Amino acid sequence: AATRADALVLFGITGDLAKKMLLPALYELVRGRELDIPIVGVTRGGWTIERLREHAREAVAAHAEPDEDAFERFAGLLRLATVDYDRAETFASIAEQTPGARFRTHYLALPPSGYAQAASCLAEAGLADEARLIVEKPFGHDLDSARALQARLTEYFPEERLRRVDHYLGKDAIEDLLTIRFANTMLSELLHRHHVRSVQITMAEAFDVADRGGFYDGTGALRDVVQNHLLQMLAYLVMEAPRTGAAADILDERARALRAVRTVRPEDYVRGQYDGYTDVRGVAPGSNTETYAALRTYVDTDRWAGVPFTVRSGKTLSATATEIVAELHRAPFGYFHTACAQEASPNLIRFRISPEAGVTFDLVAQHEGDAETVEPVAARLDFTHLTGSGTVAYERILADAVSGDPRRFTRMDMVEDSWRILAEVLDSPVKPAVYARGGWGPAEAERLTEGGWHRPAQEQQS
Ligand code: NAP
Repeated sequence: AATRADALVLFGITGDLAKKMLLPALYELVRGRELDIPIVGVTRGGWTIERLREHAREAVAAHAEPDEDAFERFAGLLRLATVDYDRAETFASIAEQTPGARFRTHYLALPPSGYAQAASCLAEAGLADEARLIVEKPFGHDLDSARALQARLTEYFPEERLRRVDHYLGKDAIEDLLTIRFANTMLSELLHRHHVRSVQITMAEAFDVADRGGFYDGTGALRDVVQNHLLQMLAYLVMEAPRTGAAADILDERARALRAVRTVRPEDYVRGQYDGYTDVRGVAPGSNTETYAALRTYVDTDRWAGVPFTVRSGKTLSATATEIVAELHRAPFGYFHTACAQEASPNLIRFRISPEAGVTFDLVAQHEGDAETVEPVAARLDFTHLTGSGTVAYERILADAVSGDPRRFTRMDMVEDSWRILAEVLDSPVKPAVYARGGWGPAEAERLTEGGWHRPAQEQQS
């Protein structure tokens, strides 16, 4: 079993992710009395502990009015260590701030180019033995670079003590897919090629890249969200029930699921770019980066053989919603008029991940005493009261980083498979199709689905 950390060392505490997510999530853990170990922020300099505490207060207040008693406890746990990544001896400052600690968890919320250097300095300073290393996403930018990074990091931190963050794995609605699927026999039986005709996964964002043009232009939709969030979501949907609830069993099944996902063929990939993207500050003139990606693949398992899975994500679309839709085979409609059978919409099972969690069943019912006319009806179940909100995904990730539970992280074999799945489309030479803001992306993506993409339930409601 993993050892519980006795100090959390947070590299990049002055950065964007720390401000938006990590500091507020850590505060929540302290408030809930789930965390009471020293939290050492690491910086290259220019900060004092007073400034860090003030910064932490502002970061927390951006989410909720801090509870004074809880915030005092949180501020009391904060420490600051200044380092120079070119001089490993400066990492002694981390040890000075954590006297007596033996099982440190080092969390690298740094630009990915800094991961290997930080790991090597930690090792040289004698801070790697018995410690855990957590690295943020992305892990590499393709299969080869991911393997090269793994080789560097495992020189100092073996795989058992290494964790890769994909904060989607901390989302209750994603984890709940397993419970919903396997604790409800009405669904576990239904989610099978015998009943499912196709599956669509959509992560739609109504917003644009805003002021993050410089970051986004070097990344694009495939690397930003498909390789990690969307493929992990797919894995949760298609994996078999783990043998037990133990982390190792869940990870094994999730990895097996990803291994069964076919490598996407270039002809099954459509890329787009929203109109006006190249005018964004930080974006290269004539940039070829995709802000929309749609693809089709198959899952070669007994359960899913032959069922097409289409996955899409894009910016400036008509809604902000993440959803998985399983379309069932159409009923034979034996006693109905044939025309009616053609018109009736198929049954859909929608797993709504965000903005709110739940399941919707799209059914059909008879129209006002006329058995030949059917009307669509949506049976909408809401699980929002069962799922955490705000910074909860990062609370789960940070709590696991400290406890050592690996279930909500990405194992290296999964990283390799997710890069392998996208290998033939990652650096597509095809120019992205320009699409209008506020729609559903390039029309060309329609050809990936039979019968078109389903609009998110969220959008239909409003
Ligand atoms: P960031 O703000 O650009 O950088 C974080 C901190 O790293 C900076 O405040 C700086 O701290 C230090 N730093 C910057 N450049 C460095 C360099 N060349 N060498 C060493 N240290 C350097 O990054 P971020 O947006 O917080 O992201 C951190 C990590 O989280 C990245 O891996 C990113 O991909 C991932 N991530 C971020 C987001 C997000 O929304 N921001 C979302 C998901 C994942 P000091 O100056 O104090 O040393």
